[in-house]
Amino acid sequence: MRVAVVTGANRGIGLEVSKQLVSRGIHVILTARDLASARAAAETVARGGGSAEAFALDVTAPAALPPLVEHVRAKGGLDILVNNAGVALDGFNAGVARQTIDVNYHGPRLVTAALLPLIRAGGRVVMVSSGLADRGGMGRAVAARFTDPSLSLDDLTQHVEKFVGDVAAGRHRKEGWPSSAYAVSKAAINALALVLARDLEGDPRRILVNAVCPGWVRTRMGGAGAPLSVEEGARTIVWAALLPEGGPTGGFFRDEAPASW
Ligand code: NAP
Repeated sequence: MRVAVVTGANRGIGLEVSKQLVSRGIHVILTARDLASARAAAETVARGGGSAEAFALDVTAPAALPPLVEHVRAKGGLDILVNNAGVALDGFNAGVARQTIDVNYHGPRLVTAALLPLIRAGGRVVMVSSGLADRGGMGRAVAARFTDPSLSLDDLTQHVEKFVGDVAAGRHRKEGWPSSAYAVSKAAINALALVLARDLEGDPRRILVNAVCPGWVRTRMGGAGAPLSVEEGARTIVWAALLPEGGPTGGFFRDEAPASW
C-alpha cells in the first residue's frame, strides 16, 4: 500500500487532500501540531473504510521529526509527501517575517530533508504554495536569485534569511524585498521545489518535486468569501501527488497547468 504524509492535515486544504488520497487507497499519516485534532481528522477521513492515522508534528520543531522518521521507516518507506502546513499572519514586522519564514519555508525544507531518504522509487513531493508567490513586487536581483540555475539549497536558505535580516534592520524595501513575508515564503518554496528537483536529477528513484497554488479557497486562512471549495482547492495538489512516471518536476502549477511566478 502506498504511504503519504500530509502536514497541517487537521483542517482546511490539508484535511481535504488527506481525504482524497485515502479515497484512492493510499495510507495517509495526517500530521498536525495538536495530536487530538490530527486523530479526529484521521477518523473522519478513514470513515468510508480507508486507511489513515495521526501523528503530532509542529513543522517548526525539529525535535518532532525523528519520531516521525522512525514511524515512516517502520512502515517501509514513503511515497507521497504533501508540505501543506502554512500561516498567513496579519501585519508586517520582523516578528511576522521570522515566524512566517519558519513555518512556510524552513518547515517544508526540514520535513522534506528528514523524509527524503525514506521516499521510495516513484515518490512525489508537493509544496503547497500560492499565487502570491508572484515575484512582481520584488526587485530584479532579489527575484532572479530564486531561479538562478546555480542556486544551491544552502544559497536559497541564505537568500531567505537575508529577507528576515533585512526586515529586522529596516532595509527590506531598499534591498528589493516586498512588504509581504507570505509572498517571500511562497516564492521560497517554489524555489525549494526547483532546487530539490535539480538535486534529485539522476537519482534512480525518479522522485518528482513540484509546487502548487490551490487557488483562493474557503478555509480559516482563505475566509468565507473565497470562491473555491476545499474539494476544488485540493484538486491540483492531489494531481501533483499522483503524477505518472515521466511527469514534470521542479515546476509551479495551478489548475493542473504550469503557472508563472
Ligand atoms: P488553514 O485552514 O489555516 O490551515 C492551515 C494548517 O496549517 C492548519 O492545519 C494549521 O494547524 C497548520 N499549521 C500552521 N502552523 C503550523 C505548524 N507550525 N506546524 C504544523 N502545522 C501548522 O489554511 P488552508 O487554507 O487550509 O492552507 C493550507 C495551505 O494552503 C497553506 O500552506 C496556505 O498557505 C496554502 N494556501 C491557501 C490558500 C487559501 O485560499 N486558503 C491560498 C493559497 C495557498 P493548526 O490547526 O494547529 O493551526
